[in-house]
Amino acid sequence: MLTVPGLCWLCRMPLTLGHWGICSVCTRATRRHINLCPQCGMPAAHTAIPCGRCLQQPPPWQRLVTVNDYVPPLSNLIHQLKFSRRSEIATALSRLLLLDVLLARRTSGLPLPDRIVSVPLWQRRHWRRGFNQSDLLCRPLAHWLGCDWDSQAITRVRATATQHHLSARLRKRNLKNAFRLELPVQGLHMVVVDDVVTTGSTVAEIAQLLLRNGAATVQVWCLCRTL
Ligand SMILES: [Zn+2]
Ligand SMILES: [Zn+2]
Repeated sequence: MLTVPGLCWLCRMPLTLGHWGICSVCTRATRRHINLCPQCGMPAAHTAIPCGRCLQQPPPWQRLVTVNDYVPPLSNLIHQLKFSRRSEIATALSRLLLLDVLLARRTSGLPLPDRIVSVPLWQRRHWRRGFNQSDLLCRPLAHWLGCDWDSQAITRVRATATQHHLSARLRKRNLKNAFRLELPVQGLHMVVVDDVVTTGSTVAEIAQLLLRNGAATVQVWCLCRTL
């Protein structure tokens, strides 16, 4: 994707605020306009109350905020973020997520967090790629919302097998005790940020870790929520 300063990356129209990267028309196009469950982020009948699945078997986190399903043009931008380390793409994607956080705040009183944490990559993968895309999203969000963020708050204590081909039960077992908390979170309202949440097993494991250590609440913020 070629980015030209002052032009929208997606439609090439001139931008009023060049550093945002994506114009207001394309911003609307990246977002989902259907009802989502406020707890799991999947399509639901209501936006105000958790869906039937969450009522029966709630995830460990209290709220989930997402921009869209894993569909173009959002999926193309995430692909760029993962493989090109373009900080301007990270800022534009963080802004899309911020718009949904602010919308949830206006419409359903989403509480703002005390601290944001990123999902750690397995160290060797981190080293190979040289950066953690979740960190790139956290930095601007923490700055705009005035909350704390530390990229080392959660560390991965052991390597885990690639999750893609595992069943839900095996994913859970694969991640058991894979993470360690490095900072006190007692009484804090926490947010876990990830780029794409699929089964949710990774963010669930981190949410449980935070709650076991006394976090007051945990939210999950992700660019894409998909299955
Ligand atoms: Zn545009
Ligand atoms: Zn739900």
